[in-house]
Amino acid sequence: MSAWNDKDRWTALCSGAACPICLRRGPLDVIARLETSWVTMQEAAPVAGYVCLVSKIHAVDLHDLPEPFATAFMRDAQRVSKAVASVTGAVKMNYEIHGNSIPHLHMHFFPRHRGDQFEGQPINPSLVAQPVYSQGEFDRTREAIVLALMSEPPL
Ligand SMILES: [Zn+2]
Repeated sequence: MSAWNDKDRWTALCSGAACPICLRRGPLDVIARLETSWVTMQEAAPVAGYVCLVSKIHAVDLHDLPEPFATAFMRDAQRVSKAVASVTGAVKMNYEIHGNSIPHLHMHFFPRHRGDQFEGQPINPSLVAQPVYSQGEFDRTREAIVLALMSEPPL
Protein backbone atom coordinates (compact mmCIF):
# COMPACT_ATOMS: atom_id res chain seq x y z
CA MET A 1 0.00 0.00 0.00
CA SER A 2 1.25 3.44 -0.86
CA ALA A 3 2.18 5.80 1.97
CA TRP A 4 -0.35 8.20 0.43
CA ASN A 5 -3.28 6.08 1.61
CA ASP A 6 -2.59 6.61 5.32
CA LYS A 7 -3.46 10.28 5.42
CA ASP A 8 -2.12 11.00 8.92
CA ARG A 9 1.15 9.18 8.21
CA TRP A 10 1.54 10.94 4.85
CA THR A 11 0.91 14.35 6.46
CA ALA A 12 3.54 13.62 9.13
CA LEU A 13 6.04 12.46 6.49
CA CYS A 14 5.42 15.58 4.38
CA SER A 15 5.64 18.01 7.31
CA GLY A 16 8.96 16.50 8.35
CA ALA A 17 7.62 15.41 11.77
CA ALA A 18 7.94 11.73 10.83
CA CYS A 19 10.51 12.12 8.05
CA PRO A 20 13.16 9.41 8.55
CA ILE A 21 15.83 11.60 6.93
CA CYS A 22 15.10 14.59 9.19
CA LEU A 23 14.73 12.46 12.32
CA ARG A 24 18.25 11.06 11.88
CA ARG A 25 19.57 14.45 10.70
CA GLY A 26 20.59 13.12 7.30
CA PRO A 27 20.36 10.12 5.00
CA LEU A 28 22.27 6.84 5.25
CA ASP A 29 25.32 6.00 3.11
CA VAL A 30 26.57 9.57 2.63
CA ILE A 31 29.69 9.77 0.44
CA ALA A 32 29.91 13.57 0.04
CA ARG A 33 28.43 16.77 1.42
CA LEU A 34 27.75 19.56 -1.04
CA GLU A 35 26.38 23.08 -0.60
CA THR A 36 22.68 22.14 -0.32
CA SER A 37 22.75 18.36 -0.40
CA TRP A 38 24.18 15.05 0.63
CA VAL A 39 25.33 12.53 -1.99
CA THR A 40 24.50 8.94 -1.10
CA MET A 41 25.57 5.68 -2.72
CA GLN A 42 24.82 2.04 -1.91
CA GLU A 43 26.29 -1.19 -3.22
CA ALA A 44 22.76 -2.59 -3.73
CA ALA A 45 21.90 -0.28 -6.60
CA PRO A 46 19.76 -0.25 -9.75
CA VAL A 47 22.89 0.28 -11.89
CA ALA A 48 26.61 0.60 -11.20
CA GLY A 49 27.42 4.24 -10.50
CA TYR A 50 23.94 5.06 -9.18
CA VAL A 51 23.93 7.89 -6.64
CA CYS A 52 21.23 9.92 -4.94
CA LEU A 53 21.29 13.62 -4.09
CA VAL A 54 19.33 14.45 -0.93
CA SER A 55 18.32 18.00 -0.02
CA LYS A 56 19.76 19.28 3.28
CA ILE A 57 16.44 20.96 4.05
CA HIS A 58 13.10 19.23 4.24
CA ALA A 59 11.01 19.94 1.15
CA VAL A 60 8.48 17.69 -0.55
CA ASP A 61 8.66 18.98 -4.11
CA LEU A 62 11.05 21.10 -6.16
CA HIS A 63 8.67 24.05 -6.01
CA ASP A 64 8.84 23.96 -2.19
CA LEU A 65 12.53 24.87 -2.19
CA PRO A 66 13.14 28.52 -1.41
CA GLU A 67 15.31 30.60 -3.71
CA PRO A 68 18.33 30.71 -3.85
CA PHE A 69 18.46 27.22 -2.31
CA ALA A 70 16.74 25.78 -5.40
CA THR A 71 19.35 27.24 -7.71
CA ALA A 72 22.16 25.98 -5.50
CA PHE A 73 20.53 22.52 -5.39
CA MET A 74 20.57 22.46 -9.18
CA ARG A 75 24.26 23.44 -9.12
CA ASP A 76 24.89 20.44 -6.85
CA ALA A 77 22.91 18.26 -9.27
CA GLN A 78 25.02 19.42 -12.20
CA ARG A 79 28.21 18.78 -10.25
CA VAL A 80 27.10 15.24 -9.35
CA SER A 81 25.95 14.53 -12.90
CA LYS A 82 29.31 15.59 -14.32
CA ALA A 83 31.26 13.55 -11.76
CA VAL A 84 29.22 10.36 -12.24
CA ALA A 85 29.27 10.68 -16.03
CA SER A 86 33.04 11.14 -16.09
CA VAL A 87 33.74 8.23 -13.72
CA THR A 88 31.33 5.76 -15.34
CA GLY A 89 31.73 6.79 -18.98
CA ALA A 90 27.94 6.94 -19.28
CA VAL A 91 26.54 7.47 -22.76
CA LYS A 92 23.65 9.37 -21.08
CA MET A 93 22.71 10.37 -17.53
CA ASN A 94 19.14 9.75 -16.35
CA TYR A 95 17.54 11.64 -13.44
CA GLU A 96 14.45 10.87 -11.41
CA ILE A 97 12.68 12.66 -8.57
CA HIS A 98 9.80 10.75 -6.94
CA GLY A 99 9.58 10.89 -3.14
CA ASN A 100 6.51 8.66 -3.12
CA SER A 101 7.75 6.65 -0.13
CA ILE A 102 9.94 9.26 1.58
CA PRO A 103 8.68 12.74 0.62
CA HIS A 104 11.97 14.49 1.44
CA LEU A 105 13.34 15.90 -1.80
CA HIS A 106 15.94 13.61 -3.37
CA MET A 107 17.10 13.09 -6.91
CA HIS A 108 18.27 9.79 -8.39
CA PHE A 109 21.15 9.66 -10.87
CA PHE A 110 21.46 6.69 -13.23
CA PRO A 111 24.44 6.46 -15.58
CA ARG A 112 23.26 4.65 -18.72
CA HIS A 113 25.31 2.58 -21.13
CA ARG A 114 24.89 1.11 -24.58
CA GLY A 115 23.55 -2.41 -24.17
CA ASP A 116 22.46 -1.94 -20.57
CA GLN A 117 19.53 -4.05 -19.37
CA PHE A 118 17.01 -1.26 -20.02
CA GLU A 119 18.42 0.30 -23.19
CA GLY A 120 15.78 2.55 -24.73
CA GLN A 121 13.64 2.57 -21.57
CA PRO A 122 13.71 3.89 -18.02
CA ILE A 123 15.45 1.76 -15.37
CA ASN A 124 13.10 -0.62 -13.56
CA PRO A 125 14.83 -1.36 -10.24
CA SER A 126 12.52 -4.28 -9.47
CA LEU A 127 13.92 -6.18 -12.48
CA VAL A 128 17.60 -5.65 -11.59
CA ALA A 129 19.54 -8.72 -10.49
CA GLN A 130 22.00 -8.04 -7.68
CA PRO A 131 24.88 -7.55 -7.42
CA VAL A 132 25.41 -4.87 -10.06
CA TYR A 133 29.07 -4.47 -9.04
CA SER A 134 31.84 -6.99 -9.44
CA GLN A 135 34.17 -7.73 -6.50
CA GLY A 136 35.78 -4.48 -5.34
CA GLU A 137 34.12 -2.41 -8.06
CA PHE A 138 31.77 -0.58 -5.69
CA ASP A 139 34.60 0.74 -3.49
CA ARG A 140 36.64 1.81 -6.54
CA THR A 141 33.63 3.53 -8.14
CA ARG A 142 32.66 5.30 -4.90
CA GLU A 143 36.20 6.54 -4.35
CA ALA A 144 36.45 7.78 -7.94
CA ILE A 145 33.14 9.65 -7.69
CA VAL A 146 34.16 11.27 -4.39
CA LEU A 147 37.49 12.29 -5.93
CA ALA A 148 35.77 13.70 -9.02
CA LEU A 149 33.33 15.67 -6.85
CA MET A 150 36.10 17.11 -4.70
CA SER A 151 38.49 17.89 -7.54
CA GLU A 152 35.95 19.93 -9.48
CA PRO A 153 35.24 23.43 -8.37
CA PRO A 154 31.52 24.14 -7.94
CA LEU A 155 30.00 25.21 -11.26
ZN1 LIG B 1 12.82 15.36 5.82
